[in-house]
Amino acid sequence: MDKKNVVHVKNLKKTYSKKGINRVEALKNLNLEVKEGEIFGLLGPNGAGKSTFINILGGSVIKSEGNVNVWGFDLDKSPRQVRASIGIVPQEVNVDPFFSPKKLLELQAGLYGVKKKDRITDTILKLVSLEKEANSYTRSLSGGMKRRLLVAKAMVHQPPIIILDEPTAGVDVELRKKLWENVRSLNNKGVTIILTTHYLEEAEKMCDRIGILSDGDLVALDTTKNLLNKIQTKIVNIITDKKVNINENTFKSLKINSNEKNKLCISYEKSKINIDQIINHLNAQNIKIFDISTDDGDLEDVFLRLTKN
Ligand code: ADP
Repeated sequence: MDKKNVVHVKNLKKTYSKKGINRVEALKNLNLEVKEGEIFGLLGPNGAGKSTFINILGGSVIKSEGNVNVWGFDLDKSPRQVRASIGIVPQEVNVDPFFSPKKLLELQAGLYGVKKKDRITDTILKLVSLEKEANSYTRSLSGGMKRRLLVAKAMVHQPPIIILDEPTAGVDVELRKKLWENVRSLNNKGVTIILTTHYLEEAEKMCDRIGILSDGDLVALDTTKNLLNKIQTKIVNIITDKKVNINENTFKSLKINSNEKNKLCISYEKSKINIDQIINHLNAQNIKIFDISTDDGDLEDVFLRLTKN
């Protein structure tokens, strides 16, 4: 059964105009949907329009044209309901260092008008694994903990959709893993997640679907699986008994990554070369193959092909 769409964007345009000088078309004609309960990744190089999109959803940037519907609410008619339906985790870590995480969440809940009896501060702290630090000074938390506190802050009004803008930028590997675990557990509880990230490997692991923005245009929108199926590059490692005579002109699209005495590493486009041709080429030189392993490219491959930078 098809999941319902919780974000619906139609012909969305944003043009920033600086006085007198050039206009920047940050979003040219964006059309996309985010489905309930999914983790949707919005990727794209710097300047692609990701922040503009997120800020339009969050209400801090005014769109130029088009329609945005969030959780059934039209952004033009019901901006407050739209805002109540999403929690945004910002890029910048800006938390008051002198309050404890618990106090900060209570204050944030107050800001959103959440009544004392409806607050779930302790549950949220547990969800982001900060229950032990609930009453510490926020300034004593590590960078990763502060970021998780930002996730917690975005959740106080229990929005059905959470948007994370580059949540792991500058966070070390261990804490990144922790943060993703927290995001997953949120998602398992039914929260729809929209995230932007520069770490393609993480997007590959985390996201059900991915949209790739480039220069204000959506250049890809598909399930992560389908995008990965479009990967063109094949990487092949061959262990041999002697050095192979081969160069980049031997086959179309061939790249020699390394060619040592007993080991050849090449890559090529799947549509242009078949592995049989490589093996035949080695056989013709009477070379023994001891081992052969192949690898597909990754999301980076798709990303680079679809975006300009
Ligand atoms: P991303 O988040 O993908 O890096 P942005 O949405 O920040 O991209 O930027 C998209 C384009 O819009 C860029 O060319 C950027 O310079 C321009 N832009 C963003 N914000 C403003 C602004 N306030 N005024 C003018 N141009 C802007």
